[in-house]
Amino acid sequence: MQEIKIPLDWPDIGELEKEYILKALASGYVSSAGPLVREFEQRFAAYLGINHAVAVVNGTAGLHLALKLLGIGPGDEVIVPALTFIATVNPVVYVGARPVVVDVDPCTWNIDPAAIEKAITKHTRAIIPVHLYGNPADMDAILGLAREYGLYVIEDATEALGSTYKGKKAGTFGHIGVFSFNGNKIITTGGGGMLVTEDPELARRARILVNQGREPGETEYEHKEIGFNYRLTNLQAALGLAQLERLPEFLAAKRRNAAIYRRELQGIPGVDWQHELPGTESNWWLFSILINAEKYGESREALMARLSGRGIQFRPLFKPIPLQPCYSHYSFPPCPVAVNLYAEGINLPSASFLEKDDIMAVCANLFPG
Ligand SMILES: *Cc1c(COP(=O)(O)O)cnc(C)c1O
Repeated sequence: MQEIKIPLDWPDIGELEKEYILKALASGYVSSAGPLVREFEQRFAAYLGINHAVAVVNGTAGLHLALKLLGIGPGDEVIVPALTFIATVNPVVYVGARPVVVDVDPCTWNIDPAAIEKAITKHTRAIIPVHLYGNPADMDAILGLAREYGLYVIEDATEALGSTYKGKKAGTFGHIGVFSFNGNKIITTGGGGMLVTEDPELARRARILVNQGREPGETEYEHKEIGFNYRLTNLQAALGLAQLERLPEFLAAKRRNAAIYRRELQGIPGVDWQHELPGTESNWWLFSILINAEKYGESREALMARLSGRGIQFRPLFKPIPLQPCYSHYSFPPCPVAVNLYAEGINLPSASFLEKDDIMAVCANLFPG
């Protein structure tokens, strides 16, 4: 295997992170007790311009908690996009509800509002739009449908920290928004996540549910409801605080690199990429392209072999949910747009520490050989 010279993505950990972690270690607070979790939550909420943020152990747990908080369970249907990471869908099954998969838009690669409307039944309770690879979904249309049919919206903003939709941060539109701080996301706490909401009651119950159903500050081992151990730790929060301070730097780098890709790729026939809706700004977490083999004059596989040979890392897009073996016993509609994006797409190197020269080197290898 060729050594990786230009990585897809990699955590950007520097001196600030080391300083904050060492301080947290010295304080003795390594677990979920300790002041930094609350500080991280407060700074995160302030950054988004939302009232409440509750730290969680990872994004998957945040989505699970969101469904629990909204009382979604057996007999309910939840609409999800066909093209997403599996963790958008699994929590729907965890709570005993039924995921209803719908196709995506060929331009934004996000859930198609027209397909949502067709899938709504009397059992539908919620929609989980995903801002895929950081690109904001059509929130006006989705919120319009949610209002019209009385549905909850849980935004899977796990990939979209710093993205904006009409001037407002992604993740702040739904009843609940969920972020991830996994190692590959735009900021990382090793593993971690955040649940955000404007609703004080949802936030209050979230704080109870993440802590085994126990009220914050409660000294007795009394548990109000059956909860989870989904808390973030003080050490992780220290890392998160440093990463959050550096987020503007990461965003600037990702957006600059994506702009270079778009400029350079314009001239190559048969290459397209994910497009932003007017008025939206992606964080360009992972810049991704589509290869139309016929117009490109070479197969996607040949391109992938060339990139591998030069040490340029790439990934396939997420395998669409209807193609997943673990969901083969569900009868999902075919979702041809998602399937085609999957067949043509790859994620390109997007790490925030990549420089203009790295991106230019990737682009030079994208011309058909
Ligand atoms: C990363 C991710 C998740 C889950 O986040 P974790 O922190 O890894 O549990 C959920 N949905 C999408 C779309 C993701 O990319």
